[in-house]
Amino acid sequence: MDRLVAYYPEVKSGLVFKNPYQLFVATVLSAQTTDQQVNRITSELFKAAPDIYTLSKMEPMQLEKYVKSCGLYRQKSKSLIAAARIIVEEHNGIIPESFEQLVSLPGVGRKTANVIISSAFGQPALAVDTHVFRVSRRLGLADSTTVELVEEQLKKVIPREHWSESHHRLIAHGRTICHSRKPNCGACFLTDLCPYYKKGGES
Ligand code: SF4
Repeated sequence: MDRLVAYYPEVKSGLVFKNPYQLFVATVLSAQTTDQQVNRITSELFKAAPDIYTLSKMEPMQLEKYVKSCGLYRQKSKSLIAAARIIVEEHNGIIPESFEQLVSLPGVGRKTANVIISSAFGQPALAVDTHVFRVSRRLGLADSTTVELVEEQLKKVIPREHWSESHHRLIAHGRTICHSRKPNCGACFLTDLCPYYKKGGES
């Protein structure tokens, strides 16, 4: 982790947002697409739906035209509007800060809830996305086969105060060097510590 800190000193969410509402929407939209793709559409989207109340009154077809390039856009539009209605009706229009309340909303899984409580509210959380899952398993920080168990294992080996930034650093490493199909081990500063590398690239 010290080396990851040295290599990726400044880390933050790749999503552009100004408040918890915007992060909530952007994070739900980011499932199975890139942060860059989400950032491309959110400025127009947030003009049309500047707050949770406006979003809650939209119909899925209205929202779909803004999020069409994000993949799974029909499902995401339905989920976002349904979640917005619950947030307005049950949480006074305020994005919940509790993990349990967030995961009970449509379209919100563990990863999304962890990203929101960490990036919007500064709570320690360790969201396991595809990069965190792959890189932490290759590095031997975890060896479980589900995201839930990998999250549990990482939380045991990484100090709580470093959970959120470690999430971003593992993502950064996955995006820049430890690629999914062909990790660039020749450019990696962790080869001497990496079981995956020592085994010749076998998981
Ligand atoms: S040595 Fe290779 S597999 Fe291991 S973390 Fe670095 S890039 Fe990934």
